[in-house]
Amino acid sequence: MAFNILVCAKQVPDTNVIKINPKTGTLIRDGVPSILNNDDANALEEALKIKDEFGNVIVTVVSMGPPQAQDMLRECLAMGADEGILISDRAVGGSDTQATSNALVATIKKAEKEMGKAFDLVFAGRQAIDGDTAQVGPQIAEKLDLPQVTYVEKCNLNAEMNELTVKRNLEDGYEIIKVKTPCMLTAIKELNTPRYMSIGGIFSAEDKPMYIWSAADVEVDLATVGLEASPTNVFRSFTPAPKGKGEMIEGDSAKEVVGKLLVGLKAKHII
Ligand SMILES: Cc1cc2nc3c(=O)[nH]c(=O)nc-3n(C[C@H](O)[C@H](O)[C@H](O)COP(=O)(O)OP(=O)(O)OC[C@H]3O[C@@H](n4cnc5c(N)ncnc54)[C@H](O)[C@@H]3O)c2cc1C
Repeated sequence: MAFNILVCAKQVPDTNVIKINPKTGTLIRDGVPSILNNDDANALEEALKIKDEFGNVIVTVVSMGPPQAQDMLRECLAMGADEGILISDRAVGGSDTQATSNALVATIKKAEKEMGKAFDLVFAGRQAIDGDTAQVGPQIAEKLDLPQVTYVEKCNLNAEMNELTVKRNLEDGYEIIKVKTPCMLTAIKELNTPRYMSIGGIFSAEDKPMYIWSAADVEVDLATVGLEASPTNVFRSFTPAPKGKGEMIEGDSAKEVVGKLLVGLKAKHII
């Protein structure tokens, strides 16, 4: 039996140039250069490392997004993933994290049914650089009833492939956690350095399976996806005001300068 890994990968804008529809408050992705989300590249790399180590591993990459997200999925295939799945449908557009995870969970369940396999490990990035919420991974785990470990910076699968030992990054230290498969992990950049696509990989990516599914294909309840079904709505989007100019503190001695600095910090209630 093969060990099946699913990697959730999101196509995100490459730069800070994100256009926003002023009427709906939603992101306009058309025309903005897009890449594979950074943390997702780490999740994919770890899946590929497991495949390199154990051999009998199938890596599937799933994404929800517009049709052009296929290009990002092809990149994942060129890096070494075995198959790609894209759920793409107007009905899922404008989803918040809750609706996004609903659509992805329906897609994952459909994939398991269609392909006649269960995913032993579901991998996501810690967070996407555009939405930046870090919610989708844990929501998927919750809805699939899988144990989850977030902020994974080291990961070892045991030889029987039924348990992982992972190092979880914390603000002031780390945790070492043992988790049984099937489980869900979210990757951070410290986990590894993602590989580049190889020339052979780029050629073979064209021949690998790519499934493009609609909301109807994955049999998702339409009342749980898209803008209308999202419990949160972007009310307003705006660019934060630039910070004021810096202030040089002058004085005849270091003591005087530090004194003035302390007075200024106290006045602003910083200390
Ligand atoms: C209040 C609110 C309202 C929103 N409304 C809209 C809207 O109207 N229109 C709109 O376009 N967007 C909207 N968004 C953005 C949308 O929620 C996110 O694009 C999406 O839900 C993923 O959330 P995130 O980017 O924060 O991902 P995170 O939770 O930070 O992502 C964590 C990981 O989950 C996985 N993941 C996340 N998204 C996907 C995906 N699409 N496919 C595959 N894997 C994925 C990746 O592995 C990723 O690294 C809204 C967000 C919020 C918070």
